[in-house]
Amino acid sequence: MIVTMERLATEEQIQAVVANVAETQNNTELIRGVERTVIGIVGDHINEDLRSGLESLPGVEAVVRITRSYKLGSREFHPTDTVVNVKGVKIGGGNNPVVMAGPCSVESEEQLMATANAVKEAGATVLRGGAFKPRTTPYSFRGLKEEGLKLLKAASDETGLPVITELMSEKDVELVAKYSDIIQIGTRNAQNFMLLDAVGKLDTPVLLKRGMANSYDDWLNAAEYILAGGNRNVILCERGIRTFESYTRNTLDIAAIPVIHRLSHLPVVADPSHGTGRWYLVLPMGVAAIAAGADGLLIEVHPNPDHAMSDGPQSVTFENFRRLMDGVRSVSDVGAGNRVPLRAQSQSI
Ligand code: PEP
Ligand code: MN
Repeated sequence: MIVTMERLATEEQIQAVVANVAETQNNTELIRGVERTVIGIVGDHINEDLRSGLESLPGVEAVVRITRSYKLGSREFHPTDTVVNVKGVKIGGGNNPVVMAGPCSVESEEQLMATANAVKEAGATVLRGGAFKPRTTPYSFRGLKEEGLKLLKAASDETGLPVITELMSEKDVELVAKYSDIIQIGTRNAQNFMLLDAVGKLDTPVLLKRGMANSYDDWLNAAEYILAGGNRNVILCERGIRTFESYTRNTLDIAAIPVIHRLSHLPVVADPSHGTGRWYLVLPMGVAAIAAGADGLLIEVHPNPDHAMSDGPQSVTFENFRRLMDGVRSVSDVGAGNRVPLRAQSQSI
């Protein structure tokens, strides 16, 4: 439920609403906008009595129930964009697109350092690299684990780039959190609710990939687990879904970007590497995602993709990464323009 306060509501009137809700054992969250304050209410005791009671309080303009199954992540609950701040790198809210780039897997110090320096020079502001790798077959390379995390930390110290890396299991939460600035939850764990609960208890920002067969509703409800646990620093990542097309590894759903911006206040980034599975599609689809309003990209880059230990066919060389960055810069104004909502045409979604 959302309480919209009148434009000139006093602090006393706002606090009276909060106190009233506290008596009903529901929780409140204050969202102070430039124009007015909105009070979001979540809990198990939301009913018509509460709604009509709040509506009659002084300073209250309107009280509406949130009809969607996810609440904290919804645009209704939180009308202004969330900006996730990762060591000064701001993701979302119309800030410059943030490109997170690096190898699919951390393979060696040499490979990681060369890649980290190259992507930084080209304009990436976050370093990616997998140390715990979810692989389709157990016989593939599954990552350097803690040794990989240590290499990421060293690369971060040397370049100043914050690090994003995947967490696959609840048992590694502390270990991965210790070495990362953003925790990635992969597509295969996108609905591992115990894992989502666990990262919901942390302060570390979480990038939640879309499950490969998740609807927008499934995806936003998965994010809701993290938000409901208390962690409000959630970034959503469109990484392609399974469709009948088999030429590409997945189908990158670019429409997801403006749809999620409409439904949710959380930042949305795109991963055209996993979204296509082919290196030569990473540039056009990455640029298209930025033009569609994505808040950033997640890109796999390798010094020698033909010899990568994972995801070589979709990894770009340093040179192609530089070209991608040129493309991103050339359309970032288009993307910013597309984040401005159109005037309403109908009542549907
Ligand atoms: C990755 O980013 O390396 C990865 C495994 O991604 P996804 O979960 O999207 O497959
Ligand atoms: Mn990969």
